[in-house]
Amino acid sequence: SILSRCCRVLSTDSPLTKYSVLDVSINLHPLYPQYTLSMETVDTLKTPTFDVWHWEHNEMLSCLEFMYHDLGLVQEFNMNPITLKRWLLCIRENYRTNPFHNFRHCFCVTQMMYGIIHLCRLQVQEDALLFCVLMTSAVCHDLDHPGYNNTYQINAHTELAIRYNDSSPLENHHCAVAFQILGQPENNIFSNISHELFKQIRQSIIRLIMATDMARHGDILDSFKKVVNNFDFSEEEHVKILQMVLIKCCDISNEVRPMNVSEPWVDCLLEEYFMQSDREKSEGLPVTPFMDRDTVTKAKAQIGFIKFVLIPMFEVVIKLFPQMEEVMVLPLREARDHYEELMQIEEAMSEVSEHRRARLTEQRESSKDSFQKTQIIWVRKVESDGSLLQSGRPWC
Ligand SMILES: [Zn+2]
Repeated sequence: SILSRCCRVLSTDSPLTKYSVLDVSINLHPLYPQYTLSMETVDTLKTPTFDVWHWEHNEMLSCLEFMYHDLGLVQEFNMNPITLKRWLLCIRENYRTNPFHNFRHCFCVTQMMYGIIHLCRLQVQEDALLFCVLMTSAVCHDLDHPGYNNTYQINAHTELAIRYNDSSPLENHHCAVAFQILGQPENNIFSNISHELFKQIRQSIIRLIMATDMARHGDILDSFKKVVNNFDFSEEEHVKILQMVLIKCCDISNEVRPMNVSEPWVDCLLEEYFMQSDREKSEGLPVTPFMDRDTVTKAKAQIGFIKFVLIPMFEVVIKLFPQMEEVMVLPLREARDHYEELMQIEEAMSEVSEHRRARLTEQRESSKDSFQKTQIIWVRKVESDGSLLQSGRPWC
């Protein structure tokens, strides 16, 4: 197909291609070891305090598999449990090893969604279709992310930007890859449902993945604000907007997690940003200001984002789900305070180093002065002492 051909053009080691080669062996051998999750793991898996750095890829796959069983999705949609395993494995294969947009990020977003579903399921009742769409969109939302954002794609006229005419090239691609995978019978977890239901799920997943484009953040939040005060769960349009906001919340939810879990993610994000700005510089493209290693620091990168994007969005969501305040908004406020402190330290440090630099320059200037004076004295000495001059020592 055109799509898979383009994929190969885009990335020389396309994970999809790699997977089809592995296909046969994957069918013959156990997919990944079966882990039995401890009671403690099962409990913390439902909360943002779950330590996402603690787990190997295979263990994360088992956790995801567990979530699909636990939410009743396997039963409700008559999924073949082996197909579920194979699908998850294929999903992992199709995340690249970027510093940030990798399989662990996919896991984090999905695990946060699972946590939110548990926290809020009383209000939404047991709605398997809703849970299925939320979870599956989270799993697929960054598939085959190349590590360079839409701005880069568009400015550099990449294959993706050309294919999708500059409109959300990445999100379009994540979505297309998701359905390319589901289009393979051995990976289709929805093979046992009606065409009508599949069509409905497909439309919803597309809508949710497309909503993760941050360029649409303001618009989506505005439409949610319009309905949140008289929200009606039986109103289809209301639920559609809520789903979009929820996947957005999960996508950018690292700062909701405990500091020891969230902070390494900032380093990963900056690493990916710097990779992009370095490339922009070397290719003569406009440099995205918040990605420039010459100006960005950890605190600077996070404070604005927490204050003006994260907290305002979660504060609208808690109007609908007040139980999210303690679990998610409090940690956000703590993170904001932490980075504000860090920012003050950074500023003080840069002031100190600025001061030190100024003093060093001053010292250098004055020592240059005294060096020159010494030189003059020596030159005079040399002039008065011919033997020194003859030895040819390099005074100047
Ligand atoms: Zn993401």
